[in-house]
Amino acid sequence: MILTSIIAGSSAPTQDRAHETSFSPSDGAELFTFAHASMSDVDDAVAAARRGMQMPQWSDITPDRRGELLWRVSTLIEEHAEELAMMDTHDAGMPMGMSKGVNAPLAAQVFRYYAGFATKIEGRLSQVSIPNTLHYTTREPIGVCALITPWNVPLAIAAWKLAPALATGNAVILKPAEQAPWSTWRLVQLCHEAGIPGEVVQVLFGGPEVGQALVRHRGVDKVSFTGSTEVGCQIVADAAPTLKRVSLELGGKAPSIVTASADMEQAVLGNLRGALFNSGQACGAYTRTFVQRSRADEFASRIAEAAKVMRVGVAADESTELGPLITRGQVERVLAYIEGAQAEGAELVHGGRQLRDGGLDHGHFLEPTVFTNVQDHMRIAQEEVFGPVISILPFDDMDEAVARANASDYGLAAVVWTKDLVLAHTMAKRLRAGTVFINLLPLIDPGAPWGGFGLSGWGREMGAFAIDEFTEPKGVFVGLEA
Ligand code: NAD
Repeated sequence: MILTSIIAGSSAPTQDRAHETSFSPSDGAELFTFAHASMSDVDDAVAAARRGMQMPQWSDITPDRRGELLWRVSTLIEEHAEELAMMDTHDAGMPMGMSKGVNAPLAAQVFRYYAGFATKIEGRLSQVSIPNTLHYTTREPIGVCALITPWNVPLAIAAWKLAPALATGNAVILKPAEQAPWSTWRLVQLCHEAGIPGEVVQVLFGGPEVGQALVRHRGVDKVSFTGSTEVGCQIVADAAPTLKRVSLELGGKAPSIVTASADMEQAVLGNLRGALFNSGQACGAYTRTFVQRSRADEFASRIAEAAKVMRVGVAADESTELGPLITRGQVERVLAYIEGAQAEGAELVHGGRQLRDGGLDHGHFLEPTVFTNVQDHMRIAQEEVFGPVISILPFDDMDEAVARANASDYGLAAVVWTKDLVLAHTMAKRLRAGTVFINLLPLIDPGAPWGGFGLSGWGREMGAFAIDEFTEPKGVFVGLEA
């Protein structure tokens, strides 16, 4: 099977294009081949998107009808949920439980949420002091938006950019990650099936060069990017000459603070899942677990026991709790962090090895790994590992915990485990993170803003924040003098 970019509703040509084969992270099986977009494909897609913005069936559409189209997409996602979940499970190695239980349902839910928003994008009457003058504001679509996404949660992340971009009347070009483009390609087809014009939703395959061509293109008005901080910084530089609007959802190094007053059972399970869901390949993963010293040994031994019995397996097996990493290179990268942590003096409590037995020999599997006595300066406590590694850092008092948790260039998410209500809210205020969870896993909801401080990015997705991110305010003065 050869997948191609979809430009103006049609498959792009494949001859003279670079071809790439996608392999399953679970067993190395060949899945499909896809053709990278050429630079002329990028130009064609941008030209088509600009036409899309002018097409009466899109530019003159009523908000009610636009909402109806988005609702239809949500229904189609639900009807094809198994198929879409299977695509990310095979392509990205996402365990089926997460694909079916979170990824596909969240994509449908986000479309439903923004279907409702399409009829509620309002301006306001401004209090100007110029006599006999009326002033009001509207929110206008920005124009052509490039939506560039990572491989870790392909479908849901594409949906949470696409739905608000369409609700606000933009034309979009999706550029999924080259490691896992399958479900995005299918999502674009479902948008067309719902009745959204081919010029308004397109997808281009390819790697950094295709993303960069979109970012630099004069015909693109806005870039919404989710991915690494390094690439985010490059995008800012590349977008500067054209002053494109840019929103960035980047990396994270979420602190998890387990206080002495925590429900230990809840904290152990919450940290296990919060750190290791999607094999630890998640921006919001709990990667620095600060545990109050009086309970640190108990916590370390309980979480190590729980890690030992986790079911590691191929992503398509519904009973799998920990699936594969995306590539062999990612396994090597995480192993280097594990070796580095040991060399720096962290204490390995469980795991640390690549798994090859029991049918896992052709995939990219690592044992769930638990370190204790991790120090703040260690690389494992500073950098994004993006693998199944839990780092425990003992602390003594809450001021110290806050200072150490906040001592990171990232600021995406943080979590506090406590039964003390006052402490919970005090900590929520003091932690420097776009989202603070109390006694919870890192959840995402269309109604709750998602994004971060510092190197975690610019702007917020979800909720009304995403409507602002995909619109420009316009002011209108009206002279009322007869
Ligand atoms: P990545 O930055 O390597 O790539 C992301 C996307 O950008 C891919 O589609 C890639 O082809 C494209 N790209 C690469 N170089 C580019 C360039 N110069 N110009 C334009 N596009 C370019 O990230 P990844 O490895 O796919 O994903 C992992 C990263 O994503 C992690 O750092 C993770 O924290 C982050 N992430 C963040 C969130 C969030 O909501 N904050 C969510 C998921 C993942």
